[in-house]
Amino acid sequence: ITSHSWEAEAIVEPHQGYKKVLVTGGAGFIGSSVAEFLLKRGDDVVIVDEMNDYYDVSFKEANLKLLLDKFGSKRVSIYKGDICDATLMTDVFETHRPEWVCHMAARAGVRPSINDPYIYIHSNIEGTTRLMELSHRFGVKNFVFASSSSVYGGSKSTFFSEDEVVDNPVSPYAASKKACELLAYTYHHLYKLNVTGLRFFTVYGPRGRPDMAPFKFIDRVCRGVELQQFGDGSSSRDYTYISDIVDGVVRALDRPHPYQIFNLGKGSGTSLKEFIDLVQKHTGKKALIKVLPDQPGDVPYTCADVSKAERMLGYRSSVPFEEGIRRTAEWYKEAFSHNDIKVCPETQANGLGRSP
Ligand code: NAD
Repeated sequence: ITSHSWEAEAIVEPHQGYKKVLVTGGAGFIGSSVAEFLLKRGDDVVIVDEMNDYYDVSFKEANLKLLLDKFGSKRVSIYKGDICDATLMTDVFETHRPEWVCHMAARAGVRPSINDPYIYIHSNIEGTTRLMELSHRFGVKNFVFASSSSVYGGSKSTFFSEDEVVDNPVSPYAASKKACELLAYTYHHLYKLNVTGLRFFTVYGPRGRPDMAPFKFIDRVCRGVELQQFGDGSSSRDYTYISDIVDGVVRALDRPHPYQIFNLGKGSGTSLKEFIDLVQKHTGKKALIKVLPDQPGDVPYTCADVSKAERMLGYRSSVPFEEGIRRTAEWYKEAFSHNDIKVCPETQANGLGRSP
Protein backbone atom coordinates (compact mmCIF):
# COMPACT_ATOMS: atom_id res chain seq x y z
CA ILE A 1 0.00 0.00 0.00
CA THR A 2 1.29 3.42 -0.80
CA SER A 3 0.17 6.16 1.52
CA HIS A 4 -1.05 9.54 0.41
CA SER A 5 0.85 12.77 0.74
CA TRP A 6 -0.72 16.07 1.60
CA GLU A 7 1.61 17.92 -0.73
CA ALA A 8 -1.05 18.51 -3.34
CA GLU A 9 -3.91 19.36 -1.04
CA ALA A 10 -2.77 21.00 2.14
CA ILE A 11 -2.67 24.74 2.33
CA VAL A 12 -0.16 25.28 5.11
CA GLU A 13 -0.19 28.70 6.68
CA PRO A 14 3.13 30.35 7.60
CA HIS A 15 4.32 28.91 10.85
CA GLN A 16 3.48 30.94 13.95
CA GLY A 17 6.03 29.39 16.29
CA TYR A 18 7.72 26.07 16.69
CA LYS A 19 5.89 23.36 18.57
CA LYS A 20 6.76 19.88 19.76
CA VAL A 21 3.55 17.91 19.53
CA LEU A 22 2.79 14.48 20.92
CA VAL A 23 0.41 12.82 18.46
CA THR A 24 -1.10 9.63 19.86
CA GLY A 25 -2.54 7.25 17.29
CA GLY A 26 -0.19 8.91 14.81
CA ALA A 27 -0.02 5.82 12.62
CA GLY A 28 -3.77 5.84 12.08
CA PHE A 29 -5.90 7.61 9.51
CA ILE A 30 -6.50 10.96 11.22
CA GLY A 31 -3.40 10.99 13.46
CA SER A 32 -0.99 10.45 10.57
CA SER A 33 -2.74 13.11 8.49
CA VAL A 34 -2.47 15.66 11.30
CA ALA A 35 1.16 14.65 11.97
CA GLU A 36 2.07 15.22 8.34
CA PHE A 37 0.48 18.67 8.33
CA LEU A 38 2.32 19.68 11.51
CA LEU A 39 5.67 18.38 10.23
CA LYS A 40 5.17 20.16 6.97
CA ARG A 41 4.73 23.53 8.61
CA GLY A 42 7.79 23.03 10.80
CA ASP A 43 6.65 21.46 14.06
CA ASP A 44 8.34 18.37 15.46
CA VAL A 45 6.19 15.37 16.20
CA VAL A 46 6.39 12.47 18.64
CA ILE A 47 4.10 9.57 17.79
CA VAL A 48 2.89 6.83 20.12
CA ASP A 49 0.83 4.10 18.51
CA GLU A 50 0.34 0.48 19.49
CA MET A 51 -0.19 -0.53 15.83
CA ASN A 52 -3.13 -2.75 16.73
CA ASP A 53 -4.75 -5.05 14.19
CA TYR A 54 -8.26 -3.59 14.35
CA TYR A 55 -7.72 -3.23 10.60
CA ASP A 56 -4.87 -4.27 8.30
CA VAL A 57 -1.72 -2.98 9.95
CA SER A 58 -0.03 -2.41 6.60
CA PHE A 59 -2.12 0.78 6.29
CA LYS A 60 -0.47 2.11 9.45
CA GLU A 61 3.00 0.95 8.42
CA ALA A 62 2.59 2.82 5.11
CA ASN A 63 1.52 5.98 6.95
CA LEU A 64 4.58 5.90 9.25
CA LYS A 65 6.92 5.10 6.37
CA LEU A 66 5.67 8.13 4.49
CA LEU A 67 6.30 10.40 7.49
CA LEU A 68 9.79 8.99 8.08
CA ASP A 69 10.75 9.11 4.38
CA LYS A 70 9.56 12.70 4.05
CA PHE A 71 10.72 14.23 7.29
CA GLY A 72 13.35 11.91 8.79
CA SER A 73 13.76 10.53 12.29
CA LYS A 74 15.13 13.85 13.64
CA ARG A 75 11.74 15.51 13.12
CA VAL A 76 9.46 12.59 13.89
CA SER A 77 10.05 10.17 16.78
CA ILE A 78 7.97 7.03 16.78
CA TYR A 79 7.16 4.79 19.76
CA LYS A 80 5.26 1.55 19.35
CA GLY A 81 3.26 0.89 22.51
CA ASP A 82 0.10 1.28 24.53
CA ILE A 83 -0.76 4.78 25.76
CA CYS A 84 -1.96 3.17 29.01
CA ASP A 85 1.58 1.94 29.73
CA ALA A 86 2.76 4.20 32.57
CA THR A 87 6.47 3.45 32.13
CA LEU A 88 6.45 4.05 28.38
CA MET A 89 4.40 7.22 28.55
CA THR A 90 6.37 8.72 31.44
CA ASP A 91 9.52 8.03 29.46
CA VAL A 92 8.05 9.73 26.37
CA PHE A 93 7.09 12.84 28.38
CA GLU A 94 10.45 12.96 30.19
CA THR A 95 12.45 12.52 27.00
CA HIS A 96 10.54 14.88 24.70
CA ARG A 97 8.72 17.32 27.03
CA PRO A 98 5.90 17.93 24.53
CA GLU A 99 3.96 21.10 25.27
CA TRP A 100 1.12 20.24 22.91
CA VAL A 101 -0.79 16.96 22.91
CA CYS A 102 -2.97 15.84 20.03
CA HIS A 103 -4.64 12.69 21.35
CA MET A 104 -6.08 10.72 18.44
CA ALA A 105 -5.41 7.16 19.69
CA ALA A 106 -8.52 5.16 20.47
CA ARG A 107 -10.28 1.98 19.67
CA ALA A 108 -12.70 3.20 17.02
CA GLY A 109 -15.83 1.55 15.66
CA VAL A 110 -19.34 1.32 17.08
CA ARG A 111 -20.32 -2.24 16.26
CA PRO A 112 -17.15 -4.01 17.46
CA SER A 113 -17.47 -2.14 20.76
CA ILE A 114 -20.70 -4.00 21.45
CA ASN A 115 -18.92 -7.37 21.17
CA ASP A 116 -15.77 -6.38 23.06
CA PRO A 117 -16.45 -3.41 25.33
CA TYR A 118 -13.46 -3.95 27.64
CA ILE A 119 -10.85 -3.04 25.08
CA TYR A 120 -12.70 0.26 24.47
CA ILE A 121 -12.78 1.07 28.16
CA HIS A 122 -9.06 0.29 28.36
CA SER A 123 -7.74 2.22 25.36
CA ASN A 124 -10.23 5.06 25.34
CA ILE A 125 -10.95 5.82 28.99
CA GLU A 126 -7.80 4.58 30.74
CA GLY A 127 -5.62 5.81 27.88
CA THR A 128 -7.09 9.31 27.95
CA THR A 129 -6.77 9.46 31.74
CA ARG A 130 -3.10 8.43 31.54
CA LEU A 131 -2.41 11.18 29.00
CA MET A 132 -4.25 13.90 30.86
CA GLU A 133 -2.54 12.94 34.12
CA LEU A 134 0.90 13.19 32.47
CA SER A 135 -0.08 16.35 30.59
CA HIS A 136 -0.97 18.07 33.84
CA ARG A 137 2.23 16.82 35.57
CA PHE A 138 4.48 17.93 32.70
CA GLY A 139 2.82 21.31 32.17
CA VAL A 140 1.30 20.73 28.72
CA LYS A 141 -0.02 23.98 27.24
CA ASN A 142 -2.87 22.51 25.23
CA PHE A 143 -4.48 19.09 25.14
CA VAL A 144 -6.69 18.37 22.12
CA PHE A 145 -8.46 15.03 21.83
CA ALA A 146 -10.76 13.19 19.46
CA SER A 147 -14.30 12.74 20.64
CA SER A 148 -17.06 11.61 18.31
CA SER A 149 -20.49 12.45 16.93
CA SER A 150 -21.57 9.12 18.40
CA VAL A 151 -22.01 10.85 21.78
CA TYR A 152 -25.24 12.30 20.31
CA GLY A 153 -26.58 8.74 19.91
CA GLY A 154 -29.63 9.01 22.13
CA SER A 155 -30.47 12.52 21.04
CA LYS A 156 -33.94 13.22 19.61
CA SER A 157 -32.76 15.97 17.28
CA THR A 158 -30.98 15.32 13.98
CA PHE A 159 -28.99 18.55 13.84
CA PHE A 160 -26.49 18.18 16.64
CA SER A 161 -25.12 21.13 18.54
CA GLU A 162 -22.60 20.96 21.36
CA ASP A 163 -24.85 22.47 23.99
CA GLU A 164 -27.43 19.76 23.65
CA VAL A 165 -27.56 17.68 26.82
CA VAL A 166 -26.28 14.27 25.79
CA ASP A 167 -26.42 11.48 28.32
CA ASN A 168 -27.72 8.54 26.31
CA PRO A 169 -24.76 7.00 24.45
CA VAL A 170 -26.03 3.89 22.67
CA SER A 171 -22.80 1.87 22.36
CA PRO A 172 -19.74 1.24 24.56
CA TYR A 173 -17.70 3.23 22.02
CA ALA A 174 -19.99 6.26 22.40
CA ALA A 175 -19.99 5.89 26.19
CA SER A 176 -16.17 5.76 26.20
CA LYS A 177 -15.97 9.02 24.22
CA LYS A 178 -18.49 10.71 26.50
CA ALA A 179 -16.43 9.53 29.48
CA CYS A 180 -13.33 11.16 27.93
CA GLU A 181 -15.22 14.46 27.67
CA LEU A 182 -16.25 14.22 31.33
CA LEU A 183 -12.69 13.43 32.43
CA ALA A 184 -11.43 16.32 30.34
CA TYR A 185 -13.68 18.66 32.29
CA THR A 186 -12.35 17.18 35.55
CA TYR A 187 -8.71 17.81 34.54
CA HIS A 188 -9.55 21.34 33.52
CA HIS A 189 -11.39 21.90 36.81
CA LEU A 190 -8.73 20.35 39.06
CA TYR A 191 -5.53 21.46 37.36
CA LYS A 192 -6.50 24.19 34.85
CA LEU A 193 -5.35 21.95 32.00
CA ASN A 194 -6.35 23.58 28.69
CA VAL A 195 -8.37 20.88 27.02
CA THR A 196 -10.46 20.75 23.85
CA GLY A 197 -12.57 17.82 22.70
CA LEU A 198 -13.45 17.56 19.01
CA ARG A 199 -16.53 15.59 18.00
CA PHE A 200 -15.65 14.29 14.55
CA PHE A 201 -18.46 13.42 12.16
CA THR A 202 -17.67 10.39 9.93
CA VAL A 203 -14.29 11.17 8.42
CA TYR A 204 -13.25 9.90 4.98
CA GLY A 205 -10.61 10.50 2.34
CA PRO A 206 -7.18 9.23 1.27
CA ARG A 207 -5.65 6.86 3.90
CA GLY A 208 -9.23 6.22 5.09
CA ARG A 209 -9.97 3.33 7.38
CA PRO A 210 -10.83 0.10 5.56
CA ASP A 211 -13.48 -0.78 8.14
CA MET A 212 -15.52 2.32 7.34
CA ALA A 213 -18.26 2.70 4.77
CA PRO A 214 -16.53 5.20 2.43
CA PHE A 215 -13.53 2.93 1.86
CA LYS A 216 -15.69 -0.19 1.66
CA PHE A 217 -18.11 1.34 -0.84
CA ILE A 218 -15.29 2.28 -3.17
CA ASP A 219 -13.33 -0.93 -2.65
CA ARG A 220 -16.25 -3.26 -3.24
CA VAL A 221 -17.69 -1.36 -6.17
CA CYS A 222 -14.25 -1.37 -7.82
CA ARG A 223 -13.84 -5.11 -7.23
CA GLY A 224 -17.42 -6.02 -8.19
CA VAL A 225 -18.09 -7.41 -4.70
CA GLU A 226 -21.54 -7.18 -3.16
CA LEU A 227 -22.23 -4.32 -0.72
CA GLN A 228 -24.20 -4.93 2.44
CA GLN A 229 -26.47 -1.94 2.87
CA PHE A 230 -28.02 -1.70 6.32
CA GLY A 231 -31.42 -0.03 6.16
CA ASP A 232 -33.34 1.30 3.16
CA GLY A 233 -30.79 3.87 1.98
CA SER A 234 -32.58 6.87 3.46
CA SER A 235 -30.29 7.10 6.50
CA SER A 236 -28.12 10.13 6.27
CA ARG A 237 -24.74 11.05 7.70
CA ASP A 238 -22.58 14.08 7.87
CA TYR A 239 -19.36 12.95 6.13
CA THR A 240 -16.28 15.10 6.67
CA TYR A 241 -13.33 15.14 4.30
CA ILE A 242 -9.98 14.50 6.01
CA SER A 243 -8.36 17.84 5.10
CA ASP A 244 -11.24 19.67 6.82
CA ILE A 245 -10.71 17.58 9.95
CA VAL A 246 -6.94 18.25 9.87
CA ASP A 247 -7.68 21.96 9.56
CA GLY A 248 -10.02 21.86 12.57
CA VAL A 249 -7.60 19.86 14.72
CA VAL A 250 -4.69 22.20 13.98
CA ARG A 251 -6.85 25.27 14.65
CA ALA A 252 -7.81 23.78 18.02
CA LEU A 253 -4.14 23.05 18.81
CA ASP A 254 -3.13 26.61 17.94
CA ARG A 255 -5.90 28.20 20.02
CA PRO A 256 -5.87 26.84 23.58
CA HIS A 257 -9.16 27.07 25.45
CA PRO A 258 -9.60 26.34 29.16
CA TYR A 259 -12.24 23.70 28.32
CA GLN A 260 -14.25 23.44 25.12
CA ILE A 261 -16.07 20.86 23.03
CA PHE A 262 -16.51 21.48 19.29
CA ASN A 263 -18.27 19.64 16.50
CA LEU A 264 -16.11 19.13 13.42
CA GLY A 265 -18.25 18.12 10.48
CA LYS A 266 -19.36 19.26 7.07
CA GLY A 267 -22.61 20.70 8.38
CA SER A 268 -24.92 18.83 6.00
CA GLY A 269 -25.95 15.23 5.54
CA THR A 270 -25.76 12.84 2.58
CA SER A 271 -28.14 9.89 2.23
CA LEU A 272 -26.77 6.41 1.74
CA LYS A 273 -28.47 6.20 -1.64
CA GLU A 274 -26.89 9.44 -2.85
CA PHE A 275 -23.54 8.21 -1.52
CA ILE A 276 -23.71 4.96 -3.50
CA ASP A 277 -24.72 6.88 -6.65
CA LEU A 278 -21.62 9.10 -6.32
CA VAL A 279 -19.33 6.14 -5.76
CA GLN A 280 -20.69 4.55 -8.93
CA LYS A 281 -20.15 7.81 -10.81
CA HIS A 282 -16.53 8.27 -9.70
CA THR A 283 -15.43 4.65 -9.95
CA GLY A 284 -17.25 4.20 -13.26
CA LYS A 285 -18.64 0.87 -11.98
CA LYS A 286 -22.03 -0.47 -10.95
CA ALA A 287 -22.69 -1.40 -7.30
CA LEU A 288 -24.13 -4.81 -6.38
CA ILE A 289 -26.25 -4.11 -3.30
CA LYS A 290 -27.68 -6.48 -0.69
CA VAL A 291 -30.14 -4.77 1.64
CA LEU A 292 -30.09 -5.87 5.31
CA PRO A 293 -31.98 -4.65 8.41
CA ASP A 294 -30.64 -1.82 10.57
CA GLN A 295 -27.91 -2.74 13.05
CA PRO A 296 -28.11 -2.22 16.83
CA GLY A 297 -26.15 0.78 18.08
CA ASP A 298 -26.37 2.59 14.75
CA VAL A 299 -27.61 6.15 14.58
CA PRO A 300 -29.97 6.92 11.65
CA TYR A 301 -29.16 10.59 11.03
CA THR A 302 -26.16 12.71 11.90
CA CYS A 303 -25.60 16.30 10.97
CA ALA A 304 -23.21 18.67 12.68
CA ASP A 305 -24.01 22.18 13.76
CA VAL A 306 -20.55 23.62 13.14
CA SER A 307 -21.37 27.23 14.01
CA LYS A 308 -19.45 27.12 17.30
CA ALA A 309 -16.25 25.86 15.60
CA GLU A 310 -16.72 28.50 12.90
CA ARG A 311 -17.12 31.25 15.45
CA MET A 312 -14.40 30.26 17.94
CA LEU A 313 -11.84 28.42 15.78
CA GLY A 314 -12.40 30.03 12.39
CA TYR A 315 -13.16 26.51 11.08
CA ARG A 316 -14.86 26.13 7.66
CA SER A 317 -15.48 22.86 5.92
CA SER A 318 -14.31 23.46 2.38
CA VAL A 319 -14.48 20.16 0.47
CA PRO A 320 -17.93 19.30 -0.97
CA PHE A 321 -18.94 15.66 -0.65
CA GLU A 322 -18.80 14.86 -4.35
CA GLU A 323 -15.29 16.33 -4.64
CA GLY A 324 -14.19 14.36 -1.58
CA ILE A 325 -15.48 11.12 -3.07
CA ARG A 326 -13.78 11.90 -6.37
CA ARG A 327 -10.44 12.42 -4.60
CA THR A 328 -10.89 9.33 -2.43
CA ALA A 329 -11.71 7.13 -5.43
CA GLU A 330 -8.66 8.53 -7.23
CA TRP A 331 -6.43 7.73 -4.24
CA TYR A 332 -7.90 4.25 -3.99
CA LYS A 333 -7.18 3.50 -7.65
CA GLU A 334 -3.63 4.80 -7.29
CA ALA A 335 -2.85 3.06 -4.01
CA PHE A 336 -4.16 -0.41 -4.68
CA SER A 337 -3.49 -2.79 -7.49
CA HIS A 338 -6.83 -4.31 -8.38
CA ASN A 339 -5.29 -7.55 -9.56
CA ASP A 340 -3.63 -8.22 -6.24
CA ILE A 341 -5.80 -6.71 -3.58
CA LYS A 342 -5.12 -8.07 -0.13
CA VAL A 343 -6.68 -5.33 1.99
CA CYS A 344 -10.15 -4.72 3.32
CA PRO A 345 -10.22 -7.40 5.99
CA GLU A 346 -13.72 -8.55 6.78
CA THR A 347 -13.75 -7.32 10.37
CA GLN A 348 -16.77 -7.35 12.62
CA ALA A 349 -17.27 -3.77 11.58
CA ASN A 350 -18.13 -5.26 8.21
CA GLY A 351 -21.02 -3.86 6.25
CA LEU A 352 -22.05 -0.56 4.86
CA GLY A 353 -24.40 1.94 6.24
CA ARG A 354 -24.32 3.63 9.55
CA SER A 355 -20.79 3.09 10.76
CA PRO A 356 -19.10 5.52 13.25
P1 NAD B 1 -7.48 4.76 13.46
O1 NAD B 1 -7.89 3.44 14.05
O2 NAD B 1 -7.03 4.81 12.06
O3 NAD B 1 -6.38 5.44 14.38
C1 NAD B 1 -6.30 5.23 15.77
C2 NAD B 1 -4.89 4.77 16.08
O4 NAD B 1 -4.78 4.64 17.49
C3 NAD B 1 -4.54 3.40 15.49
O5 NAD B 1 -3.39 3.50 14.68
C4 NAD B 1 -4.33 2.49 16.69
O6 NAD B 1 -3.30 1.54 16.50
C5 NAD B 1 -3.99 3.50 17.78
N1 NAD B 1 -4.36 3.04 19.13
C6 NAD B 1 -5.55 2.54 19.54
N2 NAD B 1 -5.49 2.24 20.84
C7 NAD B 1 -4.25 2.54 21.26
C8 NAD B 1 -3.57 2.44 22.51
N3 NAD B 1 -4.17 1.93 23.61
N4 NAD B 1 -2.27 2.84 22.58
C9 NAD B 1 -1.63 3.34 21.48
N5 NAD B 1 -2.23 3.45 20.27
C10 NAD B 1 -3.52 3.06 20.17
O7 NAD B 1 -8.76 5.71 13.67
P2 NAD B 1 -9.04 7.17 13.10
O8 NAD B 1 -10.20 7.08 12.20
O9 NAD B 1 -7.79 7.80 12.64
O10 NAD B 1 -9.55 7.88 14.44
C11 NAD B 1 -8.74 8.78 15.19
C12 NAD B 1 -9.57 9.28 16.36
O11 NAD B 1 -10.74 9.94 15.90
C13 NAD B 1 -10.06 8.17 17.30
O12 NAD B 1 -10.02 8.66 18.62
C14 NAD B 1 -11.49 7.95 16.86
O13 NAD B 1 -12.28 7.43 17.92
C15 NAD B 1 -11.89 9.37 16.50
N6 NAD B 1 -13.00 9.45 15.54
C16 NAD B 1 -12.83 9.04 14.25
C17 NAD B 1 -13.89 9.15 13.36
C18 NAD B 1 -13.75 8.74 11.91
O14 NAD B 1 -14.73 8.90 11.18
N7 NAD B 1 -12.61 8.24 11.45
C19 NAD B 1 -15.12 9.68 13.78
C20 NAD B 1 -15.25 10.09 15.11
C21 NAD B 1 -14.18 10.00 15.98
